[in-house]
Amino acid sequence: MTYELDHPEVREGVARLCLDFPGTYWQKCDREQAYPSEFVAALTQAGYLAALVPEEFGGLSLPISAGAAILEEIHRAGCNAGACHAQMYTMGTVLRHGSEDQKQRYLPQIAEGSLRLQAFGVTEPTSGTDTTALKCTARREGDTYFVNGQKIWTSRAEYSDLLLLLARTTPRDQVAKKTDGLSVFLVDMREVRGKSLIIRPIRTMMNHATTELFFDDMPVPAANLVGEEGKGFRHILSGMNAERILVSAECIGDAKWFIERASRYASDRAVFGRPIGQNQGIQFPIARAYSQMRAAELMLREAIRLYEAGGNPGQEANLAKLLAADASWAAAEACVQTHGGFGFAEEYDVERKFRESRLYQVAPISTNLILSYLAEHVLDMPRSY
Ligand SMILES: Cc1cc2nc3c(=O)[nH]c(=O)nc-3n(C[C@H](O)[C@H](O)[C@H](O)COP(=O)(O)OP(=O)(O)OC[C@H]3O[C@@H](n4cnc5c(N)ncnc54)[C@H](O)[C@@H]3O)c2cc1C
Repeated sequence: MTYELDHPEVREGVARLCLDFPGTYWQKCDREQAYPSEFVAALTQAGYLAALVPEEFGGLSLPISAGAAILEEIHRAGCNAGACHAQMYTMGTVLRHGSEDQKQRYLPQIAEGSLRLQAFGVTEPTSGTDTTALKCTARREGDTYFVNGQKIWTSRAEYSDLLLLLARTTPRDQVAKKTDGLSVFLVDMREVRGKSLIIRPIRTMMNHATTELFFDDMPVPAANLVGEEGKGFRHILSGMNAERILVSAECIGDAKWFIERASRYASDRAVFGRPIGQNQGIQFPIARAYSQMRAAELMLREAIRLYEAGGNPGQEANLAKLLAADASWAAAEACVQTHGGFGFAEEYDVERKFRESRLYQVAPISTNLILSYLAEHVLDMPRSY
């Protein structure tokens, strides 16, 4: 699988770093549902998590293609960036919509790694995908907002200092459009954790450090409102293309890991006196997954090209996410099948990566919602919800 890729030095650096975190490291974390702190610390120290932060705030000022290359290589090496990838895209909301004071106060510390911005609270148990129906409220009294309600699937909250939170500041029946009246806050969880903010971990089929949050009159200084009050939905949406691009890169990395593992095993494993990879029943699903991965990778490059040119590539970013998630899932399936019984054995890492790659059909955006976006916004069909 050799062809030219962008940011070769960044890729080589990440691949070298990942050598210190082999399958046994991830197996142990997975078994104990433990946060991969050492891995995140190594990435932070190397500056990779601050890749997209502008130099004036202590980051590397790299373009999103470099962020994508970092995440792809992490996943291609068999590691998982789910423990820390949010910092790359949540930071963008602060950068684009935050006040000068917020940027000066938080970004340099985020860039140097002394402050973690890993948590992003949008989803709620009752509203789910229907974000504008969320029930979490923020009520202003003087210079303070008080937050009440609940979030679910707020990943990494236990391992983050800051939380980017979406809450309703004007009731839905008092706004002209249901997308109005929502606001974004940068919550410093260190001050409220265990008091007005309760964090409960949720165990999942893979090791993801996800949680549910309960707010009971949680105070947030008005100075921590990000952007304009009532325009939070738009502020969050503006970061969605970046999120889709970065997550697609992770899926591409996963697909490459599965394809490399499967083709190597198919060539090495001999049954009936010949390599199993000599059978087309084994070859074809791997070759098909490879073709899906390459197509997804091309779409991802197109989304990145448009994004870096200053465009708003909603269609391409969504297509890349859809195709990349499907490619990684096809590659995962082919890899398990190729490994036969060993595909289920912990020490081969295939079953772990299989569980991990299933997530991308659902989060951060489900395949159905992307199809519905394409049907409505690209193909001009009637809105379905
Ligand atoms: C491990 C994990 C980590 C996550 N991390 C975060 C996080 O850090 N922050 C955060 O805010 N959220 C996070 N999420 C939430 C994630 O974004 C949601 O799970 C996802 O958006 C789907 O929402 P839901 O689970 O409420 O499903 P629902 O909205 O209940 O939907 C259930 C199913 O119905 C489908 N569906 C719903 N409406 C329609 C429709 N109109 N047309 C067709 N199909 C439809 C959906 O596609 C889905 O398949 C995480 C989720 C998981 C599982």
